[in-house]
Amino acid sequence: MSPAMSPNREKTILDLWERAAGLDRWKRDDALLAEEGAAPRGLGARNIGLLSIRTFLFGRFWKLRSNCSNCGTEIEFEVNGAALAQDLPRAATAGVAVLDWGGGTVVARAPTVDDLIAVATRHDTRQAVVRALVERCTEGTVEALELTEAAVEEFGDRLEQLDPAAIVGFDVVCPVCNHGWPATLDIGDALWIELRYAAERTLVEIDALARAYGWSEDEILRLSPVRRAAYLQLVEAA
Ligand SMILES: [Zn+2]
Repeated sequence: MSPAMSPNREKTILDLWERAAGLDRWKRDDALLAEEGAAPRGLGARNIGLLSIRTFLFGRFWKLRSNCSNCGTEIEFEVNGAALAQDLPRAATAGVAVLDWGGGTVVARAPTVDDLIAVATRHDTRQAVVRALVERCTEGTVEALELTEAAVEEFGDRLEQLDPAAIVGFDVVCPVCNHGWPATLDIGDALWIELRYAAERTLVEIDALARAYGWSEDEILRLSPVRRAAYLQLVEAA
């Protein structure tokens, strides 16, 4: 059972769900992040923002699952979202770095969500996406079109490291076969699944009580969790 929810928190969940439903992935994250003002463009900053929304709505502990890539066993593990947000490295404020590359230097910056949107709409394979990102995020002597696939991958990794919180992962070890793997967490996706589930559950309850008693959404949201559960039991028993 989830902890009892205050009516305000439930209302926030419904408001966020309403604002973000039906949007594509990046716009959906924007809609969730808009609560705090304009959504940041940096991927790491967005992760940190989404993580704090998740902690605010659902508490600090987050149960996550990953499947062992060796034997397929499903592993459940718990993450402290508040501690994780604290520990995630903030990207260098300048957002630009000079990288040594191929005997010279290249000015590079971490990809933002706008870069991802721009390249995702024009390229469909992962390699093409990484190559386009390298082109967008570097200045100087890198001619991405002339780089080998391996060099593009390596350069992509270097760009990623400029914003370490852009990718959130955990080292997981399988208790069955002892295999270890890095489980990555897509915070926006995971938060959306949880948020949508919570919103839909609340809507089902509102629907049942509104039909039975004619109460408004507001009136139902103001019922204490104990009272609401009692009325729901009565409606079900009827
Ligand atoms: Zn395993």
